[in-house]
Amino acid sequence: MTVRAYAPGRVNLIGEHTDYNDGFALPIALQVGTTAEFDTVAGGSVIEVSSSQEDGTATIPLDTAPGEVRGWAAYVAGCVWALREQGFAVPAGALRLTSDVPVGAGLSSSAALECAVLLALAPRGVDRTLLARLAQRAENDYVGAPTGLLDQMSSLYGAEDTALLLDFRTLAVDPVPLRLGEDVLIAIDSRTPHQHAAGEYRRRREVCEAAAAQLGVAALRDAPDDAWEALADGETRRRARHVLTENRRVLDAAAALRRADHREFGALMNASQASMRDDFAITVPAIDLIADTAVALGAYGARMTGGGFGGTVIALAPAAAARRIAEALPERVAGAGHPAPSVATVRPGRGAHVLSDVRSQR
Ligand code: ADP
Ligand code: MG
Repeated sequence: MTVRAYAPGRVNLIGEHTDYNDGFALPIALQVGTTAEFDTVAGGSVIEVSSSQEDGTATIPLDTAPGEVRGWAAYVAGCVWALREQGFAVPAGALRLTSDVPVGAGLSSSAALECAVLLALAPRGVDRTLLARLAQRAENDYVGAPTGLLDQMSSLYGAEDTALLLDFRTLAVDPVPLRLGEDVLIAIDSRTPHQHAAGEYRRRREVCEAAAAQLGVAALRDAPDDAWEALADGETRRRARHVLTENRRVLDAAAALRRADHREFGALMNASQASMRDDFAITVPAIDLIADTAVALGAYGARMTGGGFGGTVIALAPAAAARRIAEALPERVAGAGHPAPSVATVRPGRGAHVLSDVRSQR
């Protein structure tokens, strides 16, 4: 074995669809992740890749170009391509992926995969923000998913007992201590995988760009908090209002966390959920019911996390309420005709790192 690298999934605590508007978000890295094991093969010209999540193997030519490799292996091929576009030599070899991040649940299995693969294939010591950009490039330009940098930055910079206040204009990472004490973070997987999300995501991005152009700013980040009032078209107004109010909520939420004021943090989560539901229109009925039920059962706050149209709800709750949620919520949601959600406790985990590297000994 040559290199083993690990990268976690993430949960965004607050700040949705703000990354591509040069705004703010407050994610944590999770304690589940993807491991990439890479053995170099001298004289080869391809990478053979296998995954514990997928049947069969895929062959990736080192000189691959967008469109060539499709399906799950496109995420790996995209990393190979982005590294070479950046001028890094990528060795031939065999790559094995193992993962315990649920796929398509909104916990960013895709960024966990990209960041683990990049750490395993890149030369040692490459700047993490550059790795995040390469992962984004792989996902945007090779796979064709127009996602922002939130997922990759979270996976690469995460730390235990820490939330990350991310500024997507400067790419500054400001660690915020997350002192849970007796309180609990709960990830509630709706088991409604985010379908048709790519087209809707693209549409939201376009409307945000149009709103910024109408307001005469480079990105919605630059507009005053109440600038949405000046927009004539109803859809554009609501989308801009979400982004502008969400940026404010993220900054307020980081301040609340620093004071360990979980009640205030929860209130901001609830306001974010309402904004995603009413203004940005990215939730679905199962998600709304889960968030409302978690709060009814005593959570300080609950909101959808991730790009939307399904996926996971994150809730912050006192320990007793967390127990009630685990016991009662799945049945209540299933009783309303939705898939029974799965409930898991999450904690902020360590960010991506190399587990072992014996390249220098070869
Ligand atoms: P998520 O919210 O989990 O990131 P995405 O749709 O962005 O959802 O990415 C999921 C896709 O990433 C999967 O459909 C698959 O193609 C790929 N993927 C993620 N993790 C793995 C893995 N461990 N092995 C193979 N493919 C993976
Ligand atoms: Mg993803």
